[in-house]
Amino acid sequence: MSTTPGTLYIVPTPIGNLGDITLRAIETLKNVDVIAAEDTRHSGVLLQHLGVQTRMWSVHEHNEREKADGLIEQLQSGKSIALISDAGTPLISDPGYPLVNACRAAGVRVVPLPGACAAIAALSAAGLPTDRFLFAGFLPAKQQARVTALKQHQNETATLVFYEAPRRILDTLEAIVEVFGPDRRVVIARELTKQFETFLNGSVSDVLTQVTADTNQQRGEMVLIVAGAPRQSQGIPAEALQLLALLTAELPPKKAAKIVASHYNLRANELYHHTLS
Ligand code: SAM
Repeated sequence: MSTTPGTLYIVPTPIGNLGDITLRAIETLKNVDVIAAEDTRHSGVLLQHLGVQTRMWSVHEHNEREKADGLIEQLQSGKSIALISDAGTPLISDPGYPLVNACRAAGVRVVPLPGACAAIAALSAAGLPTDRFLFAGFLPAKQQARVTALKQHQNETATLVFYEAPRRILDTLEAIVEVFGPDRRVVIARELTKQFETFLNGSVSDVLTQVTADTNQQRGEMVLIVAGAPRQSQGIPAEALQLLALLTAELPPKKAAKIVASHYNLRANELYHHTLS
């Protein structure tokens, strides 16, 4: 598998498990003229493990704008370059956007390789709707700014996907309770592809209780997924009504409505009123 001269390759690297690099990624890293890496020391370990000897240049968030022109000159002179970040897919909460944008403007070919991305891995196994999702990257670090940012998503019906730092997870869950209410369903996908991979799933207040009680859940890397706001229902789906009928035979109507609402992403109030009709 050879690389094409004058091409920038966007190459994802593993987010934990080294087995998650593709054959095409390895071949590309071996065959390009240069690898532009976010942190050459960090990526050096991976490249050594893969037997890749290609030279590296450092391109990170603090120098990527200045480096873009030089890289484009190299590409226009026929060199092929692979862009990698510390982990996962470059540009996804990682450096690379100014370079790719500049390449497009200059008519330089940009080729993406598919591969590891924490947001997509988390979403694929979270059990929340995936038909529409909004990737919102990292929330602001300060609590007030975080609450303001969450408020912008208050009425968003698509599933919300955030990256979060472990030291902020409790504050963020509290902010979600404040903005979206205690019943909004969330999933925390932690340490994906690694030994201690865990998924916590439930109402945000339940998950907050679990994370508070278990300090291990406050460590490592995590993706936070939040169910979208309930859609304005134009009629409750038949399966939801069936489940509601089954549950109301065994449980208090409010509880039954809450369970069905969380399962089908519907309004608990509306379901509750349905049990009374
Ligand atoms: N470009 C990367 C990608 O494609 O996923 C993301 C880079 S961003 C700087 C790092 C954040 O991604 C972490 O703080 C965490 O939120 C998430 N992340 C990366 N690896 C992860 C993993 N193994 N498990 C859970 N989240 C992860």
